[in-house]
This record gives sequence, C-alpha cells and structure tokens, in this order.
Amino acid sequence: MTNRKEEFSLVGFEKLLQNAQSQSYHFVTFSQKDQFKDKKRILLRHDIDNELCQCLPLAQAEAKLGIKATYFIMLRSSAYNLLSLENRQIVLELLKLGHEIALHFQEKIAASPDIMLQNIQNEVTVLENEFNTKVSAVSFHQPSPFVLEGHLLIPQLINTYNKEQMAPYHYLSDSNQEWRNNSAQQIIADSSHKDLQILLHPMWWLHPGKNIKQIWQETLRQNNKQTVQHWLHHERTLQDAKEEDFLS
Ligand SMILES: [Zn+2]
Repeated sequence: MTNRKEEFSLVGFEKLLQNAQSQSYHFVTFSQKDQFKDKKRILLRHDIDNELCQCLPLAQAEAKLGIKATYFIMLRSSAYNLLSLENRQIVLELLKLGHEIALHFQEKIAASPDIMLQNIQNEVTVLENEFNTKVSAVSFHQPSPFVLEGHLLIPQLINTYNKEQMAPYHYLSDSNQEWRNNSAQQIIADSSHKDLQILLHPMWWLHPGKNIKQIWQETLRQNNKQTVQHWLHHERTLQDAKEEDFLS
C-alpha cells in the first residue's frame, strides 16, 4: 500500500484512474447514470467547495485517459465567484475537455423545503444559461439530516443524496483524505462492488505531503492570488504594484 503522500497526489490520482480502467471499470457521467448497465461502472463526482481554480490538472488527467467526470460547482461558494471572468473560463474549459457540470447547492440559503426546491431550480437555470449546457444532477453541500434522510425527489434532477436514485452505486468519498472503510484503491483492486460512485475533492489531491490545515491555507491563498492577479491586470491605479505587495 502506498503512503498518504503518494496516494493523495496527482500521480496517485492518475494511478487510481488507470487501475480502475485496468479492472475494466467504465466511467460514466451523471447524465449517463442509468446507461452501460452491463459494464462495471464508476460515477466520478467532484464537489467543488473552494478549489475551482485548481480543477484543471485533474480534469486534464481524466481527459487524457478518455474519462469524463461530473464537476458539481457552487453559485454560493464563499471562496470563489463562479461567474467571474477567470472562473467562468475554467468552467468552459472543463466542458471543452468533455466533462459535465452539475450543481453543488448551499442548503443553508433555503428558508423552507418548498423554497429550497425553487432555489435549486433557479440555480440550475443560471448554470445552464451561463454555460450553455444541460445540468442533470444536484449535490448538497454539508447536507442536513433532512436531506440525508429525506429521500428528496427533485423534479428533472438526480439528487446525489437520494439513496433510491443512486442505487446500485456504492458510495465512497475522500473527505479530509480519509476513506471511511476501505480506500478507493482497495475497493477497485478487489472489484468488490460492480458500480461505484466516487466523490473526490480536487484540493486533497494537489498538495502532497501537506496536512489538512495547510491544504486549506494553500487553497484559499490560491483564490486570493487569482483575485490579486485580476486587479493587477485590470486596475489602472495598480499598474506599478506587484503580487507580493498583496500576498504574504
Ligand atoms: Zn461541499
């Protein structure tokens, strides 16, 4: 077994994908969730809480292997503005690489369940119009018990926390670089489940050797760097300023 530093790295990520392919797993996007039933399938999902500006290395590694993933992106992230000049380019690049986008929803915005459904539909419409693509799924950011246990049916959308909708996919996640039971590597090597939904957060795979707090610091710093670079480029009064004037 590899150590944590090797496992959670871009090389480790590529190995995971390659091992899955050599075990004959076929990668499907959320719009393809019910297709290829005769094959061993992996639904590869990325929930992007903070690290939109770090997604492309993973997205490119996937594309290189002919793999399409689904990137669940937020309209209400506290770390990134999805519609900024820079970030919308990143999303367009994800689509160009063949990936799908879906909604990662901040549930705390909703005052009641009815309003929540409307909030979700509104956000899906924004995504679809802005990026000229179809959105087929929603995942909840830090889901409440209401969502986790509610088996919520959301018109026209796959709810990743609706167990019936997600069957027969076995769920596993890299949250805080900790697999709850067996690692994805182990489960794939054993082929212990025919169908897998694997949730990976890109930030955990791009800072090998750093601890959780350091990865947070680095990720938030990179968002800040993007903001600083934007203003250095677009603000006349900052034409003599340097990046290091703003970033420690
Ligand atoms: Zn989240």
